[in-house]
Amino acid sequence: MSNNLMDKIVSLCKRRGFIFQSSEIYGGLGSVWDYGPLGVELKNNVKKAWWKSVVYQREDIVGLDAAILMHPKTWEASGHVSGFADLMVDCKKCKKRFKVEDLKDRKKCEECGGEFTEARPFNLMFETYHGPVKETAAVVYLRPETAQGIFVNFLNILNTSRKKLPFGVAQIGKVFRNEITPGNFTFRTREFEQMEIEYFVDPKEADKQYKFWVEERFDWYFKFGIKKTNL
Ligand SMILES: [Zn+2]
Repeated sequence: MSNNLMDKIVSLCKRRGFIFQSSEIYGGLGSVWDYGPLGVELKNNVKKAWWKSVVYQREDIVGLDAAILMHPKTWEASGHVSGFADLMVDCKKCKKRFKVEDLKDRKKCEECGGEFTEARPFNLMFETYHGPVKETAAVVYLRPETAQGIFVNFLNILNTSRKKLPFGVAQIGKVFRNEITPGNFTFRTREFEQMEIEYFVDPKEADKQYKFWVEERFDWYFKFGIKKTNL
């Protein structure tokens, strides 16, 4: 999408009360957006329609609303602490930060021609402190995905919902990613909402279930012209 068209969409969304930039009167906070009076209704309608189709209209999926803050071990076990990172370089002159994968072998800063620092990983999880003491032991993360809240509650749900495999858990919630190169309006932001299902199956049935989900459940999408290769 051209920048010009995107600018028009952003300004239309603002004029009509759908989406405003966060903290706009203070100059705005980058890549964070507020949903206005019409935007919040639109978003709630989408969430309600999704919840109805995946939770209320199915026997095999239940809902969950897990907390944003989780035990830090969650993110060590999931690999996010060590792996949820992009390799970054800084320009030594203008201090701008770039993703290595975006450089495509460029050796100098495209803004000012400056030299780059060594590449190093930059973790995308927002950190904060749990409790009143600011110390390393108290570091927790704002979740970068909702899935982990589902995984850590798997046994609780299995023991209390009378579901047997295969079954799924659906969740809608805020997630946070400290994107280095955000942009393109609401398509890549630092705070956003996910709607997610984790579907649990007996490993012996994994292939069968996968085939079922890809080839039958998604028929509906294909009717709207979405190609299988895009899923
Ligand atoms: Zn530079």
